[in-house]
Order: sequence, then structure tokens, then C-alpha cells
Amino acid sequence: MSTLYVGGALFRAGVGSIPGWGVRVSGERIEAVLPDGVLLADRSPGDEVVDVRRGLISPGFIDAHLHPVIGGLDLQGCDLTPAASAEECLALVATYAAAHPEREWIIGAGWQVAWFPGGLPTAAMLDAVAPGRPVLLANADHHGRWASSAALRLAGVSAATPDPPGGRIERDAGGEPTGMLHEAAGDLVVDHCPEVTAEEVEAALLTGQRHALSYGITGWQDALVGRSGITPDNLGAYLSTRAAGTLKARVRLALWWQRDRGLEQIEEHVAHRALAAEAGLDASSVKLMVDGVAENFTAAISRPYLDRCGHATDNDGHSFISAEMLRQAVAALDAEGFQCHFHALGDRAVTESLDAVEHALERNGVRSNRHHLAHLQMVQVRDVPRFARLGAAANVQPLWAQAEEQMIEHTLPYLDGSLRERQYPFGDLLAAGPVLAAGSDWPVSSVDPLAGIQVAVTRQDVADPRDPLLPEQALPLERAWTAYTSGSAWVNHLDHETGALVPGHLADLAILDGDPFAGDPHDIAGHRVIRTVIGGETVYQA
Ligand SMILES: [Zn+2]
Repeated sequence: MSTLYVGGALFRAGVGSIPGWGVRVSGERIEAVLPDGVLLADRSPGDEVVDVRRGLISPGFIDAHLHPVIGGLDLQGCDLTPAASAEECLALVATYAAAHPEREWIIGAGWQVAWFPGGLPTAAMLDAVAPGRPVLLANADHHGRWASSAALRLAGVSAATPDPPGGRIERDAGGEPTGMLHEAAGDLVVDHCPEVTAEEVEAALLTGQRHALSYGITGWQDALVGRSGITPDNLGAYLSTRAAGTLKARVRLALWWQRDRGLEQIEEHVAHRALAAEAGLDASSVKLMVDGVAENFTAAISRPYLDRCGHATDNDGHSFISAEMLRQAVAALDAEGFQCHFHALGDRAVTESLDAVEHALERNGVRSNRHHLAHLQMVQVRDVPRFARLGAAANVQPLWAQAEEQMIEHTLPYLDGSLRERQYPFGDLLAAGPVLAAGSDWPVSSVDPLAGIQVAVTRQDVADPRDPLLPEQALPLERAWTAYTSGSAWVNHLDHETGALVPGHLADLAILDGDPFAGDPHDIAGHRVIRTVIGGETVYQA
């Protein structure tokens, strides 16, 4: 007995959409990919026919950089993503505080830097809507936290508290903390929040999975697994959901490289990989957070950041892992058979990551670990061809490649002109020929692959299309789609099994309500996924 998906179009890499074609699924695999007429003529009695009603049958999307547990926790806490302004955000906090008098702490996430003057909300704003309550709210990119006065007091953060390494406490003229804590400074308060229990982490993973499945995502690479100091340890949640059969998505886990430690931690990564393997999970990746983000001037760049007047400062960002340690770590991890998953936003971080991959190649010879660099906000022209030469994939988060407020107000004015011209140079990368993979970095930004793909193609804000950001760097629709399917499958070492609709592959499908290849590129994100299938099993239906 098989299931036939017919009545629409089918996505194929290198082609685009093929109207009038469908697939026959038997058990967990794709058995045939043929014109609808042939599939229907060959049908056996008892076969189920699913009419996709002029929709698109796509391989399931694979998100090459996702944080489902963090996203799930955000959805379970004070979720600020529905807000569109400071007022709406504060109203959500007030509503949440009133609805949860039993919660000692109000923990949440999802506010946008652009809603507040200078990107800096204050403790006083929270004190007004949740009087006397400790509140801690991560911004959408999770690189900054906003604390109420009670939270600062409970954590002992005062004018006398020095900035911690890798972090900065925003202060007023008198040196008093104003409520905004950048990067590692947020940990000063996080350390005092109630511990997240293992049950809550497991629930968050399943909440995150449910969210991802509803957008047609059938697999991902978790870009932060293990103990990070940033989030609760989530490896246990993968092991338990896998054992319980509730983990449906095909996942690969990137173990967190602790940047305050050295090569001695590799032994622990090896042990965790073995533990995961026993459960049938692949944890052969290690995530190396090489730098920060441009909005708070921690992305590692080749030219110093500018001040408000356009003058060069003495800050060129942070290499969270020194270039020398990175070389040693990548060579050692590569020798151990680990894939390195780099967070590299600034151009200097990209150069240092590629240098480390090159060093590993020289030392260990060609291994097929499929290292990949994520984010790639700025890439020097001379580094573009190195990806393909070194066999490293470019893992892009296309939703960021748009001229929205955060980019226009909080990023571009503070960058040297030569770097402004190098924002998310996906077109250059595509032309240079490395594997392109794609992901969302959810909950940093929307998990929706269709929104990401629309921006990759238009380089414009989905909600408010205006001047595109470097439109010459746009990707053709078919290439963006391929990055989000077979490109990410390659990065996850699953390209022989999933990511394309070919006979013999696992039946991992995302079925859309229409064919984005047949319409205006500005309407791509207007489409919805109506059914998600993993291994032949329908795991989501609209
Ligand atoms: Zn991330």
C-alpha cells in the first residue's frame, strides 16, 4: 500500500518546480517520482491518493542552524515576539505578570532592539509594568538581556559591579546600571534565575519541534547542545525524546565549545558523541562561537567600528576564541572526526575560521567532516573562493539580508564603508561554488523558511519592502530552495537520504498551499505549509 501525492507541482534542485508531477511513497521511502498521470495509472487498489490542490510538493526543509530548546522555552515563557513596538512589548509583560502571580521570576524573550531609543530599554520601564518583580527578558538575538530593578538587586548588580569578561553593563552618567546587559553581562542575572528543570527542557524541545514542523521543517542542526552557560543543558532532552519516540525530526547535534577552556574538553565531546550515538543520534558536530554580533559591536571585523559621528573607534570586535586556539581546536576536532560549525559574523571571524580549516586540512589531509561557517554577515572578497577550495559550506541565515531598521539604524552607520558593501554576500558565495546551506537561527529570527527564502531572493523586508540590501547579492529562487533542502542535508551528512525528492530517499516532505515558483517573489512568504511528512508519516497538518 502506497500514498500518492498528486495534483500540484514538485520541486527539483537544478530545475525549480515541475507542474503535474507527484510522488509515490511506500513505507518510509519515496518509491517513484513521476507525472501524475503515470502515478495514477499505476495505482493499486488500496493506495491512498492525497490531492495537494495545486500546491508544491517540496523536500522537507532542513534548518542548518536552529535552537529549538531556546525557542521552545521562549514560547513557554513571556513571549514578546508578537509585539511590534515598545508599547506592545511592555503591555505583554504587564499581562504576563498579572497572569502569573505565582512565578517568582518573569523570564521571557523576543523584544527588538529597534523598538527602543539607542536600542536600550531601561529597568524603570519594567518596574512600571511589573512593580517589584524580578524580570529578565532576552532580546530577539539573545545577545542582550533587559532586567528590572528587582532582578538587578537580587543578582547584586550595582554601580560597584565591574563589567565581566566578554560582557558590558549599560550604565547612566553616574555609573548606575540602567537595566541593559550585553553579552556575558546577562549571565550575572541569569545565574540567579530559578534553575530550568529537565522536564521543562524536554517540554521546550517538543514545543520547539512542533513549531518547526508547522513550517515544513523536517530536520535541523541544533547549533548549541550541551552545557553553555547561556542555556540549560539540552542533550538529555534529545536522549529522552529519542528514547520515547517523540523526537520526529532528523537532527544533528552541535556540541558547544566552551571558550574559556582548551583542548582538554575534546575528551568530553567524544564521550557525549558516544552517548548520543548509543541513542541513535548524531552529535559529531562542535559549535565554535568565534565572535559576537555587529549590533553591539562584538562581531570581529577587519576595520574598527565607527562612533556616532563616523570616526573610527579603537574597537574591532571580539574574537571570543583566539585565532591560535581556534587553529588548534579545529585541527584536533577534525582529527577526531568532528564537523566544526562556526558562528562567524564579522569578516575577521570568517578569515580566522577559514584559516583554522585550512590548517586542519594541511595537518590532517582531506577528511569529509563538512565544516561549515554560519551567519557570514561580512566576507572579504579574497575569502569568498576559499570556502569551495577548503570544502567548507556557507551556512546562511537569509532572513537577515534585508535593509530593516536594525540594519539601517544600528549596524551600517557604525561600519567602515568597505564593510557596508560586504553585507551577506550570498551571490558572491554562490558564484564561487561552495555548498550553500540555510537556516533561521530561530528564535533569533522567525523559523519560517519561506520568509528566509523570500528575503534571499528579494533582499527586501517581507513586511515592508523598500530599498533592497545589495540586490546584486540576491540568490535565484531555485538556489535558495536548494540551500534550504539538499544543501542543509549535505551539512548534516544526510544528503544520501533526504533533502531531495528522488526514489529511494526518505519521504520527508513539506507540502505548500501553492507554488511560489509560479508567482511573484514578493508572495513567497505568503504561502503556508499545509502538511509535513517525515519518513512517510504525517507529523503536521494545517
Ligand atoms: Zn545561533
